[in-house]
Amino acid sequence: MKSKKSKADSYKNLSISALILCAGHGARTGLSYNKILHYMGSKTVLEMTIERMQSSLAGAILLVIAPEDEKAVKELIKPYKNVSVCYGGATRTESVRKGLNELGYCDIVVIHDGARPYVTAEVINASIDSAIDYGSGIVAVPTVDTIKEIRNNSVIRTLSRAGLYNIQTPQTFRYEDICKAYNAVDGIFTDDSEVYERAGFTPKIVVGDYKNVKITTMEDLYRPAAVRSKIGVGFDVHPLVTGRPLILGGVRIAYPKGLNGHSDADVLTHAIMDALLSAAGLPDIGVLFPDTDPRYKNVSSIGLLATVNNNVMLRGFKIGNVSAVIMAQKPKLADIIPEIRASLAAALKVSEQQVNVSATTTEHLGIIGNEKGIAASATCLLNY
Ligand code: MG
Repeated sequence: MKSKKSKADSYKNLSISALILCAGHGARTGLSYNKILHYMGSKTVLEMTIERMQSSLAGAILLVIAPEDEKAVKELIKPYKNVSVCYGGATRTESVRKGLNELGYCDIVVIHDGARPYVTAEVINASIDSAIDYGSGIVAVPTVDTIKEIRNNSVIRTLSRAGLYNIQTPQTFRYEDICKAYNAVDGIFTDDSEVYERAGFTPKIVVGDYKNVKITTMEDLYRPAAVRSKIGVGFDVHPLVTGRPLILGGVRIAYPKGLNGHSDADVLTHAIMDALLSAAGLPDIGVLFPDTDPRYKNVSSIGLLATVNNNVMLRGFKIGNVSAVIMAQKPKLADIIPEIRASLAAALKVSEQQVNVSATTTEHLGIIGNEKGIAASATCLLNY
């Protein structure tokens, strides 16, 4: 095994640049604009790809773009350092050639599709390592589908899957070698490793990740990286009484009244548990922790939340985010919310950015407004 230290030292002495190809038209997505400009949540495909590349060992990034996208791309890359653009050509081969020329000399070049926003730093770095050691690092995954050769709708033969790989990007090379290869070949290629191979080099494969899909069809835009999600909703209300502590999200709050219930009556935590269970398709807390069961008398609900979370995780779900609102006329909760978020995030084993809590009054209307009770509602997103 190579020592990590010697590797880290070698990176320092190497210039590693990335060429990201963004000049495609993406007609198969059915969009009227370049798919790299499509928003997936709060960010475009292009921003996601740039951020993944910047989390790797690659330094300068050159985007090879179509002239008609220049204005939109330049606006999007403003916040990013070390990202520049150049125009591509009519084909991918022409775009890579132009990009390599524009990039100028570097030791290692990472060539990546702008429409592969799910690539990870680990995969990019593995391809860089391979290029340092062997001259190239072509990311690929073993083929999982059965592949048949067909002519006129008839099967000629079935290929053995053994030894077959689906080629992805990044494809990383010693800059000099890939320039030599592009200068040596004529014709149109969709794959840099083929150009490299035709020029007499032997591409080296790095096993990547099935999630590193290239966004090609409309379906890819809405089922990113095969991550599926389920949404869940929960609601709860408890009466306010004297002689009980007020506990919200596992945090004890100084207030003359508290919520009444069989457990500690932590209304916020109850709503969140029901949201999680609902998304996971599991029975609600009334079934799991019945208020007739003496084991749950005055029990800490935040402890039950950790149990619920465990059950949900055992079913293969991962929390995307939890969002909740507390409805209370009093007390004022704004100052305590950071502590509540921290407490919930700890019980759920997620970051505080994944848990948000807001508070509202009901403008003195109804049981909440009359300070007779506190309610909470929660929504969560589970990925699987
Ligand atoms: Mg309850």
